[in-house]
Amino acid sequence: DLLVVGSANADLVIGLDRRPGPGETVLGSDLMIHPGGKGANQAAAAARLGARTTLLARVGDDAYGRMLAEAQRDAGAALAGLLVGSTDTPGTVGKSGTDGAAEGKDAPTGVALITVDAAGDNSIVVSPGANARLTPDDVAAARELFEAAAVVSLQLEIPLETVAAAARAAAEHGARLVLNPSPPARLPEDVLALCDPLVLNEHEARLLLDDGQSLTADPEEWATALLALGPRSVVVTLGAEGALVAGPGVGSETTDGIGMVRVPSPRVRAVDTTGAGDAFTGALGWRLGRGDRLEDAVGYAVRVGALAVTRPGAQESYPGAEEIGAADAR
Ligand code: ADP
Repeated sequence: DLLVVGSANADLVIGLDRRPGPGETVLGSDLMIHPGGKGANQAAAAARLGARTTLLARVGDDAYGRMLAEAQRDAGAALAGLLVGSTDTPGTVGKSGTDGAAEGKDAPTGVALITVDAAGDNSIVVSPGANARLTPDDVAAARELFEAAAVVSLQLEIPLETVAAAARAAAEHGARLVLNPSPPARLPEDVLALCDPLVLNEHEARLLLDDGQSLTADPEEWATALLALGPRSVVVTLGAEGALVAGPGVGSETTDGIGMVRVPSPRVRAVDTTGAGDAFTGALGWRLGRGDRLEDAVGYAVRVGALAVTRPGAQESYPGAEEIGAADAR
């Protein structure tokens, strides 16, 4: 099974010609509301491909929380780890949604306020809400989910101490750890050392590397520098170019056992790249859990990412397994 531990947000999107300055009001498009958050996106992507998937996350006892639960259910993910409010514990979803409210300090579902301007550029404000209340205690209480997991997939839109607890719980239960350091933050060394792989895009790679400024345009160089931070393997996603895989035994030519290969993405007409990286990482985690070699799992994940950019939205754009097969046959 795949266990995704991470964020669930409602994405509130408004298109506009130009963003307002301080004190200014502008008119925009109709509001669009989508299920989002990196954790929820990854889990939806994997479940849609047929993976047995559980999302350990926290949402509010509100309409957005229900929308996110419904999106997970529609994708085929298990809901046992979707905690409601700030006091719900794993396995009790839907049964104790009012406990936190009784304390008068319940947390709302996380929200991302997104404006998209005429040039297609995003500006985003995130209110973490319930995501900030996912704690190491929740990880401890979700023991059964970790026991069932072949792979645990993490991102950084929840408290870093919770990320660290989940990484250590994965190791304790013999699950492989996939981690996307987004938004980029410094991770404890023991957590980095468990990542197999660390999955990140160019932007995240530059921010994670201390002197990202002096980096060349050569992803192979970033991968070498990233491996030096301690993860067991590294996957750098390169948008339309696909991905670069680096680690022990990767490819046919290795130096000290470490090899690198480029995995090209299928050529597609990109319509909306929102959530492509999450689709990629969800697919990658699932294939690794099935026992694929890292480069083969990446070969599958680039096809999932490419299909995800051919349709608008994040979770709404994610393909089913039959579409990946059809893409192969072409
Ligand atoms: P992120 O969404 O995190 O910025 P990328 O842009 O690197 O990540 O995209 C992740 C994956 O999605 C890529 O490895 C690739 O497989 C696919 N992808 C993204 N953009 C395109 C594109 N324009 N054409 C084809 N595939 C794409």
